[in-house]
Amino acid sequence: MKTISRRVFHKKLSQGLAGTALLSGMPLGFGMSKYSVKKKLGIALVGLGSYSRGQLAPGLEKAEHCYLAGIVTGTPAKEKQWMKKYTIPKSNVYNYENFDEIAHNDAIDIVYVVLPNSMHAEFCIRAAKAGKHVICEKPMAVSVAECDAIIEACATAGVKLSVGYRMQSDPYTNEIKRLVREKTFGDVHYVSSDAAYISRGNPNQWRLNRALSGGGALMNMGVYAIQSTIYGVGMNPISVAAQEFSTMPEYYKDTDETITAQMQFPNGVVGNLFTSHNANANRLFVNFRKGWAELNPCHSYGPLAGRTSEGKDIKFPHQSQQMRQMDDFTKHIKTGSINFAPGEMGKRDMIIVEAIYKSISEGGKTIPLDLGAMGIVS
Ligand code: NAD
Repeated sequence: MKTISRRVFHKKLSQGLAGTALLSGMPLGFGMSKYSVKKKLGIALVGLGSYSRGQLAPGLEKAEHCYLAGIVTGTPAKEKQWMKKYTIPKSNVYNYENFDEIAHNDAIDIVYVVLPNSMHAEFCIRAAKAGKHVICEKPMAVSVAECDAIIEACATAGVKLSVGYRMQSDPYTNEIKRLVREKTFGDVHYVSSDAAYISRGNPNQWRLNRALSGGGALMNMGVYAIQSTIYGVGMNPISVAAQEFSTMPEYYKDTDETITAQMQFPNGVVGNLFTSHNANANRLFVNFRKGWAELNPCHSYGPLAGRTSEGKDIKFPHQSQQMRQMDDFTKHIKTGSINFAPGEMGKRDMIIVEAIYKSISEGGKTIPLDLGAMGIVS
């Protein structure tokens, strides 16, 4: 008798539950969608670079509600490796040219775009047109206009959209949000967020190429500093002023090396953020009227660590952030539970990114932000 591995067995079982109902033409029960019948939803990763390889694929192996069903790659050599390692059938393997045929593949429910930033919009829009739910890596795109185009394509296709903001599913982030919301230490007075790492090595990497990245440190870890400053205060900013610093212009010649920015909030709080491709910093500090809370490290994959002015550690068991993030989005599709990182959040952050670059180009001028109507708070 042919034996199959436990992983293959579970995969076949999860696909089978949906398949039985859908393929046989059996009517789905009242209130059931093809997604609620499936035990696990199938995700296809588009772009098999270091984040897909090191974080997303391993996260999917542990996920409860989704699994790695397919891949989309421009590098034929990766196809065989990934098919073997993750038991992916050839029928679920695509390249950038035939990607749109994914529309006819019921094993793929969600397309996760993990390409250089300037390619996000094209592939998210193609995924939506193929009728697939979309996860778009951060930063959502390289302009607000592209964010709008992704949001509109998903709305028109009736598919769900989320941004790869893994921190939004992380318990440390949510503990800071709770302390702010419940005013455990009183009102927030000041927030400081640093998100930076030294990005050297290959000077031709896409992150240092503006046409592919849309910008440097700000487009990389900078969006995490924007995010944590905002949830550290618990509301959207009303203006931003920013400064750029360059100590190695010969290396960081096409993209920003270091940026600091101050966001002003409606309650008078100032949030100061720092991001860089030429320094290591990874911390969120929230100063309240009667104390403080700190996460350090804050923005990395974990384990994270935190403490408060009471001398208590903020501590949670370490789990893959990416697993939590993809499980949360899958639950959102299946049950309508909260979408922790909707497209509008990615767009809000891109509005702030554009305002930061505008401020820098105007010598540090304060740029007003009109985010009131966005409905996205932290
Ligand atoms: P990477 O360079 O390791 O991988 C990029 C992938 O895109 C590769 O498979 C490459 O072959 C493919 N690609 C297709 N066209 C390309 C082109 N013209 N130039 C370069 N590569 C091309 O990058 P990565 O670290 O995996 O990042 C991919 C995306 O994921 C980015 O948007 C990045 O911001 C995001 N990311 C997010 C997090 C997070 O914390 N959420 C962490 C890392 C990366």
